[in-house]
Amino acid sequence: MSVVTRFAPSPTGMLHLGGARTALFNWLYARHHGGTFRLRLEDTDRKRSTPEAIAAIVNGLTWLGLEWDGEIVRQSERRQRHAEVAHELLAAGGAYRCYCTPEELETMRAEARAAGLAALYDGRWRDRDPAEAPPGIDPVIRFRAPQEGETTISDLVQRDITIDNTALDDMVLLRADGTPTYMLSVVVDDHDMGITHAIRGDDHLTNAFRQTQLFRALGWEPPAYAHIPLIHGSDGAKLSKRHGAVAVGAYAELGILPAAMRNALLRLGWSHGDDEIIDTAQAIAWFDLDAVNRGAARFDMEKLQSLNGHYIRESADSVLLIDLEQRLAARHPAAATDEGRRRIAALLPEAKARAKTLVELADNLAFLFRDPRDAMTPKAHRLLNGLSLETQAHLGALAYMLEELAEWDEAELERFVRAFAEGEGIGLGKIAQPLRAALTGSHASPGIFAVMVALGREETVARLNAVGILASGR
Ligand code: GLU
Repeated sequence: MSVVTRFAPSPTGMLHLGGARTALFNWLYARHHGGTFRLRLEDTDRKRSTPEAIAAIVNGLTWLGLEWDGEIVRQSERRQRHAEVAHELLAAGGAYRCYCTPEELETMRAEARAAGLAALYDGRWRDRDPAEAPPGIDPVIRFRAPQEGETTISDLVQRDITIDNTALDDMVLLRADGTPTYMLSVVVDDHDMGITHAIRGDDHLTNAFRQTQLFRALGWEPPAYAHIPLIHGSDGAKLSKRHGAVAVGAYAELGILPAAMRNALLRLGWSHGDDEIIDTAQAIAWFDLDAVNRGAARFDMEKLQSLNGHYIRESADSVLLIDLEQRLAARHPAAATDEGRRRIAALLPEAKARAKTLVELADNLAFLFRDPRDAMTPKAHRLLNGLSLETQAHLGALAYMLEELAEWDEAELERFVRAFAEGEGIGLGKIAQPLRAALTGSHASPGIFAVMVALGREETVARLNAVGILASGR
């Protein structure tokens, strides 16, 4: 039997981390078993389902690289089929019409609550003759749920869980207006789509019992269920905005790479020994449900960032360049020119070793496109203002020679500046620190020689001049 999984979000908000992890696990499970991964939008709640939410899901999955197989199924377009199934079950005696008024149901619930019982429907129309139906009431169709015995689900994560059938009442399948309920729709869709494994959040665990009963009443086999634990923040509390971004889309903006996000989501509740860095090919090869933990998983932003640093270092420069050019050009249009791209590319190999996000990487490279005097750190400022006359003279002489230097590459610049410092009997730092401050506006930056190459000779000399380091021959 070929594996068919599905991600079945209700498009009522953003794609959050929990949903993304559910999608990832279904995708990995399908890919691991050479099966199929389907996407089904559970958009039956017309008021709450929005085009924006659908776009967030589609874009989020696409960004994450979790491509689905076949067409997207929209649950709302299958209403007719859902209703047909309810009517078939009705004809076969597995469901019945219930003519309770809303007031009657309310009284029933209030009485149950007063008696300290669960507010279940008491089955009063289960065996009653429809001829007794009060006039003017449109009936709902309820499932004739088994009242005796037990229902067991063999959950692939939570193991066997059994409930007494008296704990569940006869749920509504079709509302009085003929629209199908969520519970009916899920069962019919899972069946019709040939879903073999339903991997989802454990907030759906109780639904699994009702769905299993309905599957059986319809003569169908339920999928294997795998209910995965909730995600908590690093402090152990249920994940919320307080722990940082919850929407997947926000991580793209923060400069997280999809590969890092996949790795971090994978580690939320799934483990393979002590491995932290697990790339997608490895994840597909290893993923199975027996290694899903039963306890709540903890999401840790710092861990995500450190994974992201790894994936940035592993990324090809050509891939990073496209992203960086866009990020930088939003603030500095010059970044999107040939010269801009050349500058970024020149410094990228070094800069990418030290950034944890693409935002940080772009920030670290922004000096390539702005006047350092506009964003001088206080330390760099103090340094340049406090230069001794002697250092000023050294820098002036150096600037003069730089203008004349035959080659403008990193090795040559390093050799030359070192030789100059040695010749003057001063440490390299005496020269390199003010150079760095003048060229970048900061005291901490990539290697000074790489910076000079990235800026080019003309810009280097212009920046030195701009802070009063004027070429002077001796
Ligand atoms: N639509 C449900 C949700 O978004 C998922 C239902 C399911 O996976 O069975 O939580």
